[in-house]
Amino acid sequence: MGPVPKSVPKSMTASGSTEQTPHLRLAGIGAGPANLALAALLHGDRGQPNLFFDRKPSFTWHDDQLITGATLQVSIFKDLVSLSDPTNRFSFMSYLHEHGRMYHFLNAQFAAVPRTEFRNYLAWAAQTNENVVFSESVQHVEFVNDVFRVTTDRRQVTADNIAVGVGTVPWVPDLAVPHLGTGHFHVSQFLRYAGQLAGKRVAVVGGGQSGAEAFLDLISRSPGDRPACVSWVSRRRNYFPIDDSTFTNDFYMPEYSDYFYRLSEEKRAELNSAHLLSSDGISESTLRAIYQGLYRLQFVEHDEHRFGLLPNRTVVAADRTSNGIFELMLRHNDESGQSQILPVDAVVWATGFRPAPKTFLEPLLSHIETANGEVRVDEDFAVTWDGPPDRNIFMQNAVRGQRGLPDVNLSLNAWRAQRIADRLRGNNSPEMAMSFIDWSAKSGRG
Ligand SMILES: Cc1cc2nc3c(=O)[nH]c(=O)nc-3n(C[C@H](O)[C@H](O)[C@H](O)COP(=O)(O)OP(=O)(O)OC[C@H]3O[C@@H](n4cnc5c(N)ncnc54)[C@H](O)[C@@H]3O)c2cc1C
Repeated sequence: MGPVPKSVPKSMTASGSTEQTPHLRLAGIGAGPANLALAALLHGDRGQPNLFFDRKPSFTWHDDQLITGATLQVSIFKDLVSLSDPTNRFSFMSYLHEHGRMYHFLNAQFAAVPRTEFRNYLAWAAQTNENVVFSESVQHVEFVNDVFRVTTDRRQVTADNIAVGVGTVPWVPDLAVPHLGTGHFHVSQFLRYAGQLAGKRVAVVGGGQSGAEAFLDLISRSPGDRPACVSWVSRRRNYFPIDDSTFTNDFYMPEYSDYFYRLSEEKRAELNSAHLLSSDGISESTLRAIYQGLYRLQFVEHDEHRFGLLPNRTVVAADRTSNGIFELMLRHNDESGQSQILPVDAVVWATGFRPAPKTFLEPLLSHIETANGEVRVDEDFAVTWDGPPDRNIFMQNAVRGQRGLPDVNLSLNAWRAQRIADRLRGNNSPEMAMSFIDWSAKSGRG
């Protein structure tokens, strides 16, 4: 279906002038990697006028976690577009070429690409796409006269479709909330606050990649900058690696995503839990660097009291005692009834992220189907709702229960965006190569 020309009422911009945005085929809410992939695929298509809004003043990508040495946990081919449209001008290769660093990138022979370089690539893709705007927060979305009316803090636009890509927000357990401040913070603020931890007793809580990177950074500091002691607490039984092996990576292919989508809700929940470490485990290079760092501390520098490794424990209380000492109470997961008190001066909560609230959708909520705390989507990531079938609310990175663990990471970004772009254009792009594995008994091979 082509664009539906409609005029939009003039509205006041923040600067006080009036501006008119033509009716859009698609308005995007959020401009992180998920919606940037869609913006890249739609760029230059005159039949699909589109505009993506992000509330941040400029592009960032987990910037306060860009700890020196942090690397991407997936292949660089999992950029915004390469897996669905490799000749697209917003590919990582195109970024390298435009910046004159193709040979240097090859010669650098990165085993994993520095996260800061990937962030810079994303920022370039956001800045060079004129359909992506920053400093504009979407306040609410209504459906009026057969179109979506999207109200930002600067204007109102209308669109046939919207794509929600607002990502995740930091999460800490309730017991941590009252104490958050400079000495107690979520790992997403690491670079902002971790400079103040020299000489302190610090606990890092969380056994995933973010906790591992924080722990590694703290134990690797030069003696003057180092905390007095760093303890690493994890609920997991040990510090487990990410499973990045060949067949496990077939879980991160389109065919598996479609197979997963067709399973029962109970089975999908079971698989997400069983496969968690294929996505949320720690990179082997990070684990090795930590182990080698501990070896150096204990056997080379003879400084063994500077760290504590406390996996298989759950933080059950966090509070200040009457004599002013802050303590974490840890319950051991195997030895029932056993708990441990950990006196600390600071806590880095590396306890993960949760889907971002989507209050701007409130005017539409009564029209939207939900299941198990998620909006229900069809195979093109369009929300099931009671509006006209050619008016869609696309949902990116918000349906892990229906689409599995890849929904949250970069692996299927380009493919998911292609599905959405195809739906908008009424196309059916050829699907990428099938997995070697017959996931379904109904697959008909063999
Ligand atoms: C430290 C870290 C490292 C990661 N590394 C990897 C990795 O190596 N490989 C991998 O596969 N995955 C990785 N991930 C997971 C995942 O790829 C990222 O979280 C990714 O950023 C998700 O993209 P997104 O676009 O869905 O969300 P986000 O990146 O969170 O983007 C959402 C955007 O929406 C905007 N927004 C929110 N509300 C509004 C509103 N009302 N109006 C306008 N804009 C709004 C926000 O400002 C934000 O810019 C990592 C995650 C973290 C935290």
